[in-house]
Amino acid sequence: MLRSRRDFGAPATAAVSVDRSDAGVPAIRAIGLRKSYPGVEAVRGIDLNVGQGETFGFLGPNGAGKTTTIAMLCTLVRPTAGRVEVAGHDTRTAPGLVRRSLGLVFQEGTLDGDLTAAENLRFHADLYAMPRATLAARVDAMLELSGLTASRDSLVRTFSGGMRRRLEVARGLLHRPRVLFLDEPTIGLDPPSRAQLWEHLGEVREREGTTLFLTTHYLEEAERCDRIAIIDDGRIVAQGSPAELKSVIGADRVDLRTGDDEKAAETLLERFGMEAVAGPHGLRVQAEDGALLVPRLCAGLDVPVYEVTVTRPSLDDVFLHHTGHRIRADPTGERR
Ligand code: ATP
Repeated sequence: MLRSRRDFGAPATAAVSVDRSDAGVPAIRAIGLRKSYPGVEAVRGIDLNVGQGETFGFLGPNGAGKTTTIAMLCTLVRPTAGRVEVAGHDTRTAPGLVRRSLGLVFQEGTLDGDLTAAENLRFHADLYAMPRATLAARVDAMLELSGLTASRDSLVRTFSGGMRRRLEVARGLLHRPRVLFLDEPTIGLDPPSRAQLWEHLGEVREREGTTLFLTTHYLEEAERCDRIAIIDDGRIVAQGSPAELKSVIGADRVDLRTGDDEKAAETLLERFGMEAVAGPHGLRVQAEDGALLVPRLCAGLDVPVYEVTVTRPSLDDVFLHHTGHRIRADPTGERR
């Protein structure tokens, strides 16, 4: 968990100028990234290649190594081995340029509650030595993008959790970074605020073209990403778009509750060539396209069909397939 802005702050050099002439350069590239602490191998050799404008999710349970990886990508933690480039800049040889190229939203709030929304943004702009001439317009634009224009002069301590998160995102974007890193951005938010923040991130991406790299242990958030990497115990176990990763699992599950399961199982084998197994509520079969199969089953089984449920493979199934255990968001931090 990345908690604070300590040790991060402003880039080493003054005024921020953004060079957009690096089309084709990956937003993030990591090769053989490792981090060991005494007695713990937090990250055990990670390779990443994130394209410009992508929304990339880093999915894993508590303690998997997500925060440690983000911290290395952002120059906050020195890798034990391996290389990182952000927007083409090497974190070892050009950490200042890397910091200028990225924005960071920490897992826990780091806004000053005794300042207004606009003051928080201007304070950040000072740290980044942003040019005065364009600052007011940029602050206005970021407040507008975050839906906070009406609250611009309100003290942040009066804001809801969702408003604070949106302001943190606005602050992370203020200096026009190429990549915005978000460490568990929706943790602690209620479901409506989480949905609203995702809508907001969609707009950010559309209007600013920023690459988003976020960590999460919520499966439904990983589903919203263009690509994800699944990390477990310090290693990436699978990488790809959610659809690609789920296609590895293959078939849909079709659960049936019938008037006579034994007879239904016989008919499934004889007429449909499908072997049924005992499911949680009756019979279960696997099918390439469950939705297509349902009407055929209802018409073709000679017994009453009371209930049919089609379940598509989920990222949880993908996680189980690659790691042998399930991922669940758990507030206690324990892995289940
Ligand atoms: P969470 O979702 O709980 O934030 P995470 O996936 O981000 O978990 P990390 O915080 O990167 O996981 O931790 C990975 C492992 O490295 C854990 O075993 C953790 O205890 C250990 N670790 C992280 N930072 C340190 C440190 N500074 N010193 C020693 N061990 C550490």
